[in-house]
Amino acid sequence: MSSKIPVGVVTGKDLVALLEDARNRGYAIPAVNCTSSCTVNAVLEAASKSKSPIMIQVSNGGGTYYLGKGIKDPNASAAGSVALAYHVRAVASYYGVPVVLHSDHCAKKLLPWFDAMLAADKEYYDKFGEPLFSSHMLDLSEETDEENIDICVKYFKKMSAMDIWLEMEIGITGGEEDGVNNEDVDPEKLYTTPEQVWAVYQALSPISPMFSIAAAFGNVHGVYKPGNVVLSPEKLGKHQAYAKQKLGCVEDKPLFLVMHGGSGSTASEIATAVSNGVVKMNIDTDTQWAFWDGIRGFESSNREYLQAQIGNPKGKDKPNKKFYDPRVWLRKGQESMCKRVMDSCEKLSAVGTFEPRFGQGAPQIAEKGGKKELNVISVAVGCLAIGVAVGMAIAKK
Ligand SMILES: [Zn+2]
Repeated sequence: MSSKIPVGVVTGKDLVALLEDARNRGYAIPAVNCTSSCTVNAVLEAASKSKSPIMIQVSNGGGTYYLGKGIKDPNASAAGSVALAYHVRAVASYYGVPVVLHSDHCAKKLLPWFDAMLAADKEYYDKFGEPLFSSHMLDLSEETDEENIDICVKYFKKMSAMDIWLEMEIGITGGEEDGVNNEDVDPEKLYTTPEQVWAVYQALSPISPMFSIAAAFGNVHGVYKPGNVVLSPEKLGKHQAYAKQKLGCVEDKPLFLVMHGGSGSTASEIATAVSNGVVKMNIDTDTQWAFWDGIRGFESSNREYLQAQIGNPKGKDKPNKKFYDPRVWLRKGQESMCKRVMDSCEKLSAVGTFEPRFGQGAPQIAEKGGKKELNVISVAVGCLAIGVAVGMAIAKK
């Protein structure tokens, strides 16, 4: 990997260089949904240990959770997503690898969330010359292709002015319930066609090269019963071939593709997807389970030390603080989640793709032209920016 790619949150040209590196060298970056500082740090730790770039992504519901479930506010998801983004910016560079800060699926009804995140990006861009987030996803795949692409074009123009990457989805992703919903759907529709993908490319490429496409290839969200839908990652190669032929280019993989529904996929399915130009794969369900499984194992082995503050098999007056301190059992969740993310790095051929550079850690709140301003003032400015972003979000309602 080019040593020019900085550690910590990457945006703009650095992000393009990173994703080109992934596509050219045939690896993909795990994109893990995070809902807390605890899970963010577990994912960053995994990236650091795997010597891999990483993506931290926040969903609409994840943002609401990050702000605090006790807060009922129409802008809760945006305020929480922005707070998570600032957390990542404060800690990412200490882990020594490049980090992509991304927001997950945004359907039509969630566009106010998207607008508020873009407002925070703008605020940040005006101060520091780069967006707060590296990238955002718009998912209008439930709408007609025409409307989907039109809305993406409209937003992409705004985003490209701030050097923000756009991920969009086209085609039907399965996995709603137990397969009943899919029975009436033409199975062909679970697979995006090369023509659909090309239509997206044609509409977006004149605006900026900074976009990726989530095309459906029989993938579903969540872990599902095998046999319900046939995963066909080889179909992604057809999108690349079609685009190559249309463009008449030498590049075999002109498109940046992403894979959703990575949980539960086999190593060979993932490898096929990556060989066809998938540069990012989402992981959520499996890391949720991993986090819980670490805590479950700890509780199960230490149950008798976790029933009261005082009193365990070693004596009725013995304290149990070393067992119930959240740093102890949440750490077990982190360790287990970290291990699962490292597994994904392995499956995506991302291990060892970036030699971590430590000793460059600093809150990455104020970065201009690649030159870090490593001081307390920049953190204070960052905190102020959070206040402004949240204030704007509240004022907008
Ligand atoms: Zn998804």
